[in-house]
Amino acid sequence: MRIGHGFDVHRFGPGDHVMLGGVRIAHSAGLIAHSDGDVVLHALCDALLGACALGDIGRHFPDTDPRWRGVDSRQLLGHCYALVREQGLQLANADITVLAEAPRLARHAPAMVANIAADLDCLESQINLKATTTEKLGFVGREEGIATHAVVLLERIS
Ligand code: MG
Repeated sequence: MRIGHGFDVHRFGPGDHVMLGGVRIAHSAGLIAHSDGDVVLHALCDALLGACALGDIGRHFPDTDPRWRGVDSRQLLGHCYALVREQGLQLANADITVLAEAPRLARHAPAMVANIAADLDCLESQINLKATTTEKLGFVGREEGIATHAVVLLERIS
């Protein structure tokens, strides 16, 4: 088995929605990014790459490359998971924690889990996604941005 951890942050900027877990969520701000700013999927990509000792998302999708401008991060996730499969590995489970003071995410979690399970070709019961605030503390608490931690366990394809 292989374990991986990913962490990502994006800062709020002008906009009327955020993309999280492939779900478009209306908000009074957007997330600044070269891609669609999906901090949930970026942390998950980094966890998958980390478990395979394949570096990080910046190495595979450099933000200097115009191919990735505004890209749907589900494409990046699909690419990362193809690399996992090339290693003879598959997802056992993922546990994801989103840190956001706003918007409130709990009601969007099932849709995010469904997207991730579809992209990782697994059951929804293999994906856990939870959201927390930071009790108004720190950059998340000041609503300057959103952060996500992701942990994955990969197993050999039998
Ligand atoms: Mg990112």
